[in-house]
Amino acid sequence: MKGMRCWAEIDLAALERNLALIRKSLPSGVRLISVVKADAYGHGIHPTATRLMQTGVDTFAVANVKEAADIREMGSGWPILVLGPLLAEEDQALLDYDLTAALSSQEELERFQALARKENQEISVHLKIDTGMGRLGVWWENALSLIEAIKQAPEIKLCGILTHFAQPSDSGFTKEQRKRFLSIIEQAKLEDEPSFLIHADNSSSLRSFENNSLFNAVRIGLLQFGIASPRGSLLGGLEVEPVLSFHSKLAMVKELPKGTSLSYDRQYTLKRDSRIGIISAGYGDAIPLHCGNRSNGLIQGQSYPLIGRVTMDQTLIDLTDSRDEIQLGEKVTLVGKQDSREILLSTLAEDAGTIPWELLCSITKRVPRIYRTKRE
Ligand SMILES: *Cc1c(COP(=O)(O)O)cnc(C)c1O
Repeated sequence: MKGMRCWAEIDLAALERNLALIRKSLPSGVRLISVVKADAYGHGIHPTATRLMQTGVDTFAVANVKEAADIREMGSGWPILVLGPLLAEEDQALLDYDLTAALSSQEELERFQALARKENQEISVHLKIDTGMGRLGVWWENALSLIEAIKQAPEIKLCGILTHFAQPSDSGFTKEQRKRFLSIIEQAKLEDEPSFLIHADNSSSLRSFENNSLFNAVRIGLLQFGIASPRGSLLGGLEVEPVLSFHSKLAMVKELPKGTSLSYDRQYTLKRDSRIGIISAGYGDAIPLHCGNRSNGLIQGQSYPLIGRVTMDQTLIDLTDSRDEIQLGEKVTLVGKQDSREILLSTLAEDAGTIPWELLCSITKRVPRIYRTKRE
């Protein structure tokens, strides 16, 4: 990668294969809502959404109207669900960009009704139910009266209903959330037509997706990008592949004597005479601050430890145990494969004390995204 100090490689064919696997794992007729908030989890919304459109996702979901407008400007036709609550000043965007809002409250309903009446247009919503996340959505025990109010509002088209799991790893609590959600749907006697979407599952709850229940859609974010936890628990038993890898280059190598302390705060002291490499990327790019002394980098298929504190523009790597001389400019892989070795993004996140979602969101503008588009 000439002219780049670091870069993220994004394999759109892998994204496509992951989507196919996810789709195959679902009962037929279950719709796939592709969650592409936060610039498609750092993968870049335009190339990612374009490929997803070709791959045939049914609906996109994003966090806010700005993200929704970005997708709408790429083409009409795909339903776009805005998951986050709108600020009143954003309501008009629902009509301007033909979006569906996730509605949580009576206040929102009244706002949308007033706007729909004023513009003489219909506004589409999915009703969000809080079954135990304690964040967005109407609390499930208060949901029926809001559903009645929506049914009484001719300007508002109720196209779906959703809830969000707080802790998919806790099967007992997730089951309880499903039960609360389904009890509301049954009591409310909601429209029984296939285009009405009933959805709760995200990537990590997919394993417990209930076949033959009322659920007819899933909302998948992380899994489509092929990201697993180190224990594979987010994989849903699927052989998805990582879409993104992150690489940098070796900018400098120097010999330092035993006892030298490294980098800011001098947290690390060399225990032996050492050969230290300087990687041309830091937390100003994507390498998390707290992965120093914990994570590794791959060079020529070998693994070497990152040492000292990560800085904004540089990261140190201990090359003392390298057998051959490593050339300056050599590729250093922080996430991804070299020969038989692989560093998973979820491992780097865990090393840094964070989660894959946050790590993806912290790949900065300074990092060029290089797209591999070839289908095999
Ligand atoms: C982000 C988000 C998702 C997707 O979650 P993943 O764990 O990335 O699959 C689904 N639903 C809601 C409401 C979200 O905010």
